[in-house]
Amino acid sequence: MSARIVLLGPPGAGKGTQAARLAESLGVPAISTGDIFRANIKNGTELGRKVQEITATGALVPDELTNELVRDRLAQDDAVDGFLLDGYPRNVAQVAALDEMLAATGTAVEAAVELTVDPQVVVDRLTKRATIEGRVDDTEDVIRHRLDVYAEQTAPISQVYGARGLLVQVDGLGDVDEVTQRLLDALQGVRSA
Ligand code: AMP
Repeated sequence: MSARIVLLGPPGAGKGTQAARLAESLGVPAISTGDIFRANIKNGTELGRKVQEITATGALVPDELTNELVRDRLAQDDAVDGFLLDGYPRNVAQVAALDEMLAATGTAVEAAVELTVDPQVVVDRLTKRATIEGRVDDTEDVIRHRLDVYAEQTAPISQVYGARGLLVQVDGLGDVDEVTQRLLDALQGVRSA
């Protein structure tokens, strides 16, 4: 069975961890735009130089750049039969761009899974991650900005997928294995509906 899935949820909801687990279980690649940007910054590529300052403030990278990057990634062989997108789409315009990319190959998003978590838990997790991973966008000010950006630009896309009957919300709190199982169960529900 193919799986074309987007994973939604605020920064710090555990998307990265769960994306890797879900993708493995579904046999599709986990594609994280944030990871791709970070790898480009680390390797000093042209793209990396363009996005370095933007990502450091917690703002969104311009849609043209991000959409192009996703278009290229989805065209690779391993994503032809499915993918799990983590961190994309991030605003309503990106939802439309993704729709268009997929329509070009006669496919569409099959499910949008949203990990929900308490905002205070998110701040605690992100602050902890800052000390472990040393991400430059995990300082308190930037975390707050990223949460604002999420509320203003990203949260509305849940409604877009909800209106299509594709949205499932899963409680992101709890044991990592438990959350993975909840996600798999929820996905099975929406994809067989
Ligand atoms: P993430 O690891 O998903 O939290 O992404 C880290 C940073 O990369 C974000 O704060 C943005 O600056 C940038 N970024 C990641 N995904 C996107 C996207 N879909 N659109 C715009 N910017 C993005």
